[in-house]
Amino acid sequence: MKEACGVVGVVAPGRDVAHGCYDGLYALQHRGQESAGMAASDGRQITVVKDNGLVSHVFTENTLQALKGSLAIGHTRYSTSGSANWTAAQPAFRSAGPAGFALAHNGNLTNTHELADAAGLDSRSLLSDSDLLAELIGRVVEAGATLPEALHDVLRRAEGAFSLVVAEADAIYAVRDPYGFRPLCLGRLGPAEAPAGWVVASETPALDVMGATFVREVAPGEMVTLRAAGADSTRLLEPAAGPQRLCIFEFVYFARPDAYLLDHQVHSTRRRMGSLLAATAPVAADLVIGVPDSGIPAAEGYAQASGTPFGQGLVKNRYIGRTFITPDQDQRAAGVRRKLNPLRDTIAGQRLVVVDDSVVRGTTTRALVRMLRDAGAREVHLRISSPPFGWPCHYGIDTPTRDELLATRFDLAGMCAFVGADSLAFLSLEDLRRAVGVAEGCCDACLTGNYPAPVPVTVGASRGRW
Ligand code: SF4
Repeated sequence: MKEACGVVGVVAPGRDVAHGCYDGLYALQHRGQESAGMAASDGRQITVVKDNGLVSHVFTENTLQALKGSLAIGHTRYSTSGSANWTAAQPAFRSAGPAGFALAHNGNLTNTHELADAAGLDSRSLLSDSDLLAELIGRVVEAGATLPEALHDVLRRAEGAFSLVVAEADAIYAVRDPYGFRPLCLGRLGPAEAPAGWVVASETPALDVMGATFVREVAPGEMVTLRAAGADSTRLLEPAAGPQRLCIFEFVYFARPDAYLLDHQVHSTRRRMGSLLAATAPVAADLVIGVPDSGIPAAEGYAQASGTPFGQGLVKNRYIGRTFITPDQDQRAAGVRRKLNPLRDTIAGQRLVVVDDSVVRGTTTRALVRMLRDAGAREVHLRISSPPFGWPCHYGIDTPTRDELLATRFDLAGMCAFVGADSLAFLSLEDLRRAVGVAEGCCDACLTGNYPAPVPVTVGASRGRW
């Protein structure tokens, strides 16, 4: 699975904010490594810089110096819809209105084609659903509406997942969809009695690195407006009935371990996943190791609860950028070897418990098990800190079609045989909810098939409403 995107926005009167926005983007690099971009306003004009590549590749000191102004939004992208070409990098800019506007989007719309058809647009000509949103909003602004009016007009018709930051010359609007699928939080620069500015970001570590204090999460359906004069809130969209539906995989895999979501630190929830897994799936072993990065806290929790020693058995190369695979290479095996290398002295001759966050197709897991056996592991017992992944995501996470998922092809014994492990066990949905601490407050559609928001129907294919 691949993350969707990261968004950030900052307003700080009297200061150039591009460097701070860069720091925020850097903290959100894990949410998307394909492209990065920033739009900054000096109050009259919006300047946009964006390109393919990591945040540190896209921006130089010179480009940051050129991004003048006390207001900026930024985006890191992994393309879950549309083109991976640099033109689809965000923020998307439209010249509608006094100085135009820029838009950065985390999520995926599920009615892109309907929205495009209704507007007479050919959806094949659009770069992404974020591009569609910018186009539709721009048209409403050109017809005479203010930007907030246009956001209301377009977003009330949009279905699916969106955490958006939209900037015009003197304001940022941060909007979350009525379900709250993707995270978005608000922070404050300076003391509460005299704020020096405001920040919105996908995850709280971006606030930390920008020197902002966490205030609260943006609520489903809410629009927070940030200006030099301060921050205020409006209910832009009616929230969906029932609890909010933050993606449960933010806790399992996507979010940084130091992030806080729904008042829970992600690292602690991952440790709890591991300890609950130890209680339900014990096995006699010599060593517990985690698959970096998100498998590590779950492995620590498993080790502590089971009384089995914890160790580092895999080293991760943290500098993976773009890789080139020759046609004769086994892509999955090559991908695993580039990313992970076993510590042979630690694992040779050992009965290992290997804790990983998820299994999707199973091909990467199979390559990992083979690598550990080649390095001398005597037994490999896989423990997965989430339930089997049985349904595709339509809300901003890149997943295969249903018939490619390991859990739809085999029962537990078949999955274990496919990946080549000595034993295999998954965390139950009940224990995952218990570990996260929100019994009903998350989307878990890829585990249950219960999609909270309508999904596209594709007749005869495995994507669709099940
Ligand atoms: S379907 Fe799964 S990956 Fe997608 S938002 Fe829901 S929980 Fe997250």
